[in-house]
Amino acid sequence: MRCAICNKRIERNADRWVRTMDGTVVHLMCSERESRQMWRQRQYWAIGHLLVIEIVSLVLLVHDGVLNWPAWLILAWLALHRLLHRRWWHYRERDLRNWWRRHKSG
Ligand SMILES: [Zn+2]
Repeated sequence: MRCAICNKRIERNADRWVRTMDGTVVHLMCSERESRQMWRQRQYWAIGHLLVIEIVSLVLLVHDGVLNWPAWLILAWLALHRLLHRRWWHYRERDLRNWWRRHKSG
C-alpha cells in the first residue's frame, strides 16, 4: 500500500495509517498535517474576507459620512461572513469567552 498524500510505502503493521472515505490509505501523520494546512487556509480566507469588509466599511464611512453609509449592508455582509466561516467564528467566540472568564476572575 502507498500513502495517497506522500506516496511513500505504508507498512501495514509498523506505521499508523487510516483509510480515507474514498477507499485510499494515508499515514495518520500525513492526514493530520493535511487537515492542519486546510484549516490554516480557511482561517486566512476568513480573516482576508473580514479585512475586505472592514476596508469597504471604512471607505463608505469616509466617503459618505457617518449617517448616510448603508450600515445594514455591512451588517448583512457580516452575517454572511458568519455563515461562510462558521467554524472560525465558533473558535473566535470561544477565545473571547475564555478571555472574558480569565479577565473576570483575575
Ligand atoms: Zn504519507
